[in-house]
Amino acid sequence: MFENLSEGLQSAFKSLSGKGKLTEGNMRDGLEIVQKSLLEADVSYPVVQDFMAHVSEKALGKRVLLSLRPHEELVQIVNDELINILGPVDSSLHLKSEGPTIIMLCGLQGSGKTTTCGKLSQLLKEEGIKPMLVAADLQRPAAIEQLHVIGKQLDVPVYSEPDNKNPVKVCQNGVAKAKAEGARVVILDTAGRLAIDEELMAELQKIDKKVGPDQVYLVVDGMTGQDAVNSAGAFNESLELNGVIMTKLDGDARGGALLSVKHVTGVPIKFIGTGEHFDALEPFRPEGMASRILQ
Ligand code: GDP
Repeated sequence: MFENLSEGLQSAFKSLSGKGKLTEGNMRDGLEIVQKSLLEADVSYPVVQDFMAHVSEKALGKRVLLSLRPHEELVQIVNDELINILGPVDSSLHLKSEGPTIIMLCGLQGSGKTTTCGKLSQLLKEEGIKPMLVAADLQRPAAIEQLHVIGKQLDVPVYSEPDNKNPVKVCQNGVAKAKAEGARVVILDTAGRLAIDEELMAELQKIDKKVGPDQVYLVVDGMTGQDAVNSAGAFNESLELNGVIMTKLDGDARGGALLSVKHVTGVPIKFIGTGEHFDALEPFRPEGMASRILQ
């Protein structure tokens, strides 16, 4: 029952219970430990408040306080609620049965979009599905070249037009080429900025409207904590997102930003990036994340 929570938190809960019975005061102390842990994991304050309101209501109910093992029930309640908020599990790319499925990746510069294009291509290739990449990041001079390098490494075609300054046209032409070549998936690597700006959003909205991607995924850097949440809010307001991919969770970050990003966008967390290599992409599992956040 405890396998999803860290030992530290478990023993803190257990020490609250003394001989096994919990008072309401004990339970409130336990809830405070949970709250502190979430804030330390970088979960944003409003999200923590919302979470605690749900958990407290359940934990302070008579049934839990009078139960034989109340601390275990508290652990279970917290765990269940975390998994509930982080879900549902949906790492499907929802490929269409006919014609290429267009996947658009968006996010701030440096969030890991271009790398994720490679990771998704690798995943598709492993399933015998033919992808094509479109270099639509015309802001960062090296981005087109970087995508070509990735394409060569993975033996995946990359469509680019180095002299075309219009990303909408590049995407449209790329999709046409993918259709002609029988690619099943087209992944659009769009431009990011160091910070959100209106020009970036307008460009993405134009691609969204004119090219009509089937899936729009926001790529967020899991190391950036609160910034990740702010940018997710801005992207979510401008685009109809279908999912989130959070990168760089191979580092020390506890991943609390995932909880906040999920709260802000309301769309499934599809994958997490766990390294720079193309195989470092994992389908998102709420259970594993719950234990990491609540250390
Ligand atoms: P873009 O500007 O959004 O296209 O970002 P890039 O794909 O160029 O990635 C920026 C940096 O983050 C590169 O050095 C990548 O190798 C690195 N990166 C991307 N994803 C991950 C990840 O999951 N883990 C780690 N450790 N590094 C990553």
